[in-house]
Amino acid sequence: MALYRTRAIVLKSINLSESDRLVTFLSENHGKVKCVAKGARKVKNRFWGSLEPMSQIHLIYFGKENQNLYRLNQADILESFQSVRDDFGKLYKGIYFIELIDSMILEGHQDKRIFNLLLQTLFALKQQAELDTLIRLFEIRLLSLSGYKPQIDHCVVCKTVSENGIFKFSFIQNGILCSNCSRRVATDIQFTTGTRNYIRKLMEVEIKSCGRIKIPRHQAEEIEKVTHRLVLSHLGREPKSYPFIKSMAQFI
Ligand SMILES: [Zn+2]
Repeated sequence: MALYRTRAIVLKSINLSESDRLVTFLSENHGKVKCVAKGARKVKNRFWGSLEPMSQIHLIYFGKENQNLYRLNQADILESFQSVRDDFGKLYKGIYFIELIDSMILEGHQDKRIFNLLLQTLFALKQQAELDTLIRLFEIRLLSLSGYKPQIDHCVVCKTVSENGIFKFSFIQNGILCSNCSRRVATDIQFTTGTRNYIRKLMEVEIKSCGRIKIPRHQAEEIEKVTHRLVLSHLGREPKSYPFIKSMAQFI
């Protein structure tokens, strides 16, 4: 048996039996892990409050190496993100972020950059008011860290660099095509240089500063078409939480 200590973020927590819960974490040191929390459904239990989705905790768990399921030993809250869960407008965005992580990251895939992306995005969600830019930033960076970074610097077929004009984009090729190649290879959407530049900015800007980027509406819509459709094509389905974000946007 090995004992593991790491920072972690709670992705989801489901009932396993009358007294136990099964909790999925994204840990800093060991990637995504699943733990049985014994007694977590009892009214008085030692994990109380620390297994809510999005909570950042200090996690101690144990089990044999390289197994699928571990036993939770201790979970101490470092940041509860309670104010995010209390704010309906923010709650579903946070659920969307952890749903994407849970769907796109396999167990055993360890990458501290993904942990840091989620943690910094949750802090930005807590602190910022303008959140559409944060959603696009999270999508494009998670895609990139998962190996699906779209090629927007040069034609994905012939490598020609085009700095001005309209970019035609293929979801199957996961990149832009020059005017020559786009006659032979089917493209799905097109966007302007301005949109391409904003996507570049979203890949590079400090996450805590992304609320300061003001993206014009038309370009924000073009970016959503690129990043969200890439999410769809890599997941093979619409994330469950996304329709809530879209429908709530009409009321907030
Ligand atoms: Zn080309």
